Amino acid sequence: MENRELTGKFYDIQGFSVHDGPGIRLTLFMKGCPLRCPWCHSPESQAFPSELNWMEIKCVGIEKCGNCLNVCPQDAITPGKMKKTPAGDEEITLVTVDRSRCDNCGKCAEACTSKALYMCGTDYTIDDIMERVRRDIPFFKKSGGGVTVSGGECLCQPEFLLEILKTCKAEGIHTAVDTTGFAKWDVIEPILPYTDLFLLDLKGVDPQLHKRIIGVSNELILENAKKMVAAGAKFQIRIPVIPLYNDSVKAFNEMGEFIKELGDAVEVVQLLPYHSLGTVKWERLQKNAPILEATPPSDELMQARKKQLEDMGLSVIIH
Ligand code: SF4
Ligand code: SF4
Repeated sequence: MENRELTGKFYDIQGFSVHDGPGIRLTLFMKGCPLRCPWCHSPESQAFPSELNWMEIKCVGIEKCGNCLNVCPQDAITPGKMKKTPAGDEEITLVTVDRSRCDNCGKCAEACTSKALYMCGTDYTIDDIMERVRRDIPFFKKSGGGVTVSGGECLCQPEFLLEILKTCKAEGIHTAVDTTGFAKWDVIEPILPYTDLFLLDLKGVDPQLHKRIIGVSNELILENAKKMVAAGAKFQIRIPVIPLYNDSVKAFNEMGEFIKELGDAVEVVQLLPYHSLGTVKWERLQKNAPILEATPPSDELMQARKKQLEDMGLSVIIH
């Protein structure tokens, strides 16, 4: 029986995903994450509450619109800088959001028909989610796909996550959970019987370095991975390849050794090269992106690290 009271907060839902598990998948991105990876390309996933985003390019200017100016209970929105229109024949006045006053109530986003101001983070009930999931069942059946619950860190909304997984399994839908593995065992254990596959991030094995760069130690993550294997979980391991952090031969040897300890539970290792496409998303939140002195790794480096892990007996793909 579906729980009609419970809600989960999501920042995105993407159909036709082909990199989040087998076949064609519906990927559900839950909001909120306890880690702070400086290379995060989905900064809108980090905070737990819904947040106001600002996409300057969509604002048509207060001369033609100005709908947002008088709706803010906090008086956080005022006329801002001038800007030439893309055609360059007109000047418009944008708005400024004073983030120190904004409490993310969303009233301005409701008023902004251009979607220059929009909220990120939507609450769904299980019925809402399953209604969306069921639309894609024909694609799942044709391709051997299913549902992947991702984030943020979906283990931070454990009740809703468990309910989605249970409901999907009851309807014969393949389930995957994309996770950092950073959660109490009490949260992970209940979802094991309803999760066909875990997509587990592995960002490094050195606990001090992990804590210094990401904000939390990885000891809990590594311990959870071993316990999950003992409980019969299946894995795809995802390694974000970050220059100057975890791209060295030494770091890959350490990660390879750890993955080998997980044995046959690991179907494949995916290498995800760092990219800087998330920068624009930090701008929309009007937050400073963390300083990360990294450029995307070269093809040669990616191939070398792939071969390094393959030489250790692992099956590896590059995304
Ligand atoms: S989200 Fe609410 S508080 Fe923030 S700027 Fe918009 S109307 Fe004002
Ligand atoms: S409501 Fe939207 S489009 Fe209109 S002035 Fe405000 S931000 Fe710009």
